[in-house]
Amino acid sequence: MTVPMHHIEGDMIVAYAAGTLSEGLSLVVAAHLSYCPKCRMRVATAEAVGGAVLEEMTPEPVSQDKLAAVLGRLDEPEAAPTLQACANAKLLNTSLPGCVRRYLPADLDTIQWGWSGPGVKHVQLLREGDIDVSIYHCKSGISMIEHDHVADEAALILSGGFSDAKGSYRRGDFQIIEAGYVHAPVVDTSDPCLCLVLKRGPTKLTGRLPRLFQKLFGP
Ligand SMILES: [Zn+2]
Repeated sequence: MTVPMHHIEGDMIVAYAAGTLSEGLSLVVAAHLSYCPKCRMRVATAEAVGGAVLEEMTPEPVSQDKLAAVLGRLDEPEAAPTLQACANAKLLNTSLPGCVRRYLPADLDTIQWGWSGPGVKHVQLLREGDIDVSIYHCKSGISMIEHDHVADEAALILSGGFSDAKGSYRRGDFQIIEAGYVHAPVVDTSDPCLCLVLKRGPTKLTGRLPRLFQKLFGP
């Protein structure tokens, strides 16, 4: 298996190791790690450095109020899982990373896809406020409609690949798309492109015809 060429940025590696990323971003990072020994090593290093720093810190005395509040929380029932992980999912979709399979209720061949445009369909894995994490399935050879991004997005290739002005992205590759970046990716592999995408807010199509298309078919 080829190794990814596009990696997670340093800040995000540190935040992942510290456990401070949102669930959605943690999922995208974990999917990349399943393909990338280099970034797994970077996370291990960040965890080791973080552990060493914690060991050197002198513990501060905890106030009685704070201690009582923490002990009180131990009696509270565990929060319900935010997602419905299907028990059978681990037996399905075996070409996908385990962390992604846990969010899928059925096999990709039988799952209910939503229509996202000509040659593009999607299935949502997770919703956190206005953040959406979905798998997009894009047919081989299609040029996606040029679109803008209202906020930063993260994308991780699960199979196939695409190219845009930034380069070519293949299985395991990670891409951060900054807000305001306009692109029209082309699926330039013989297989369809399966892509894990985290985005905030709606996609904004650019150009007269795409805008008309969006007006008619939304979102
Ligand atoms: Zn990597």
